[in-house]
Parts: sequence; structure tokens; C-alpha cells
Amino acid sequence: MKVVKIGGSLLRTPGDFLKAAQFVAGMGDVIVVVSAVKGVTDMLIELERTRSYLLLEEIYHRHLSIARALSVENSVVPLLKELESSLSARGPWVRDHFASFGERLSATMLHAVLRKMSIDAGLYIAPIVTDNTYGSARPLRLEGRDEMTRGGVAVVTGFIGRDGEGRFTTLGRGGSDYTATYIGREVGARKVTLVTDAPGVMTADPREVPEAYLLSMMSIYEAIEAANVGAKNFHPKTFTPALESGMAVEVRNYHSRGTLIAPIHPPPPFKIVTKCGRGSCVVGLAVEELTKLGAVTLSRYSAKLDIPPPQVHEYIVKPYFKKGTS
Ligand code: ASP
Ligand code: MG
Repeated sequence: MKVVKIGGSLLRTPGDFLKAAQFVAGMGDVIVVVSAVKGVTDMLIELERTRSYLLLEEIYHRHLSIARALSVENSVVPLLKELESSLSARGPWVRDHFASFGERLSATMLHAVLRKMSIDAGLYIAPIVTDNTYGSARPLRLEGRDEMTRGGVAVVTGFIGRDGEGRFTTLGRGGSDYTATYIGREVGARKVTLVTDAPGVMTADPREVPEAYLLSMMSIYEAIEAANVGAKNFHPKTFTPALESGMAVEVRNYHSRGTLIAPIHPPPPFKIVTKCGRGSCVVGLAVEELTKLGAVTLSRYSAKLDIPPPQVHEYIVKPYFKKGTS
């Protein structure tokens, strides 16, 4: 079974939804985990705080304009009405309840578009049962596994689950990737593909280091450290299911070959540099070596240096990238 996650940065416009649907349609039997439309989770959390009708209108408009252009507005109107009637709700569960609408809306729209294309697609809203730690719920089990894997396309909401009482929970910000890897493990996938707007995992944030390279492979251990030091905004638990099951995780955009993250130990020795305080954090299988340069190791595969990212990238990461090997 294939598992693919489509990131919110690839879901902004009607054209984006069509593109996602076409991509998915070309994959055969697949589970597609969907994020909220870019920016919507922030808006929903703000809506919960302010209960502002203006913001509600903006969220309505954002989704209705996409849905109308795709002729699937009937699918989202009931959800938007439900959101409106939630405006007076109170309780410890309410923040997650509001946040849940982002993925419920986007998954519902993608599912409707696929059906319009006559593709055999099922919709699964929050099939993961979690504990009730609102804001960072822990997945307990996956429901609907057999239907999901029966064939065709299964469209699944990322980020959200349900607690024992049926209330919506969230797995924490950026939790759609984690949803995808969790489901991947539960259905015995050999690989989970995270589709985003970046070509893959880069050696640095291109805004900090314009020369940053695309990594073709990295180990799961390095990916976990990359998440811990804040690279790529990975949810810290994204790679745990992969570590437990031995499956691979691929990070790519629609066109690139991407980065394959697997339980292997591939070169180069120093892979990622991020900004850490006034210095840098380096992730790589050989960070031990950097202690000779005064680095402090943070874990087996990450270390901190008092040198800013551009220099660390130039003198420590870059030398291992010969032309054409990245
Ligand atoms: N929509 C959620 C967030 O913005 C989850 C995700 O995109 O991964 O955090
Ligand atoms: Mg994300």
C-alpha cells in the first residue's frame, strides 16, 4: 500500500486541488493524507481565540471560492455551517475542534474533486483514535484500516484524530506528516511520500544559505535530529513510526526525485546546518568529528557550533558535494 501526504503549501488554489487530484489519480491504490489549505490552521486557532465574524467570513470565502471554482461547494457548505455554529462552544476541547476544520475541509474538497473525475475514492475523517491530550494528542490506533487498504484512493485528514468520546484532537502543529507515517506503519507501507513545495530536504534553509543543496538520501536517525533542531518544521514524531517499522520516508515536490530517508547510513558525513541561537546546529553521522573544532555534541548525530550557518555550510557541509552529486 502506498501512502502519500499532500502539504498545505500545495493546496492554495483551485488549480492546486486539480493538480493534487491528478497526481493522486495517477498512483493507483493509495492512501492520501491531506493537510489544511495553507494558512488556514492559523486562522482557525485565531478564530477560536477571537470568535470574530470577520475571520469566519474570511475562512468561508477562502474555501467557498476554491470549492465553487471546482463545482464541489455542496461538499463544504455543511462543514462551514458547522464551524459557524461552533462559535459559541466552550471547553478544553474547543481549540482542537476549531483546528480540525482545516483538514476536514481540504480532505473533503479533494475527495469531491476525485469523485468528479470518476475516481473510486473514499473519505476518512480523523480515523486515528488518540488520547485526549488536546493540542498534542497521542495516536492509539487506526480505525477503518481494512476499507482504507481495499483498493482505490483513500483520502484521509492529516493532523487530527478523535478521542475516546469522539471529540476531535490534534497531533500538534505540522502533524500531517506524522499522521502519514503513523498510518504508513499501521498499514504496513514500505514507503511514505511527503509531498511539499520544496524539492526535498536541503542542506540548509535556502533563505540563510542560498547555495544549499538537495540531499538525495539521509538516515532516519539524522532526520529525527533534523526535526529536533528545527530543520524543515518536521513534527518531532514524524520519523518515529519509520524507525519502529523500518519503512522509508520520501520528501519531494511533484517533480523532484526528492530525499529518501531510510534506516541506512549514507554519505555525506555532515548533512544539514540550521541556525541555533547565535551559532549553528549541524546534523550528520560524523558530528563527533566536529568536537575538534570546539563543537558541543547535542546527541549522537547533532552538534552545536559557535559559527553562523553560511560559514559552516561553506567549510563543513559543501566540501562533500562535488559537482553533480547532490
Ligand atoms: N494543518 C496543520 C498545521 O498547520 C498540520 C499540518 O499542516 O501538518 O499545523
Ligand atoms: Mg506541514
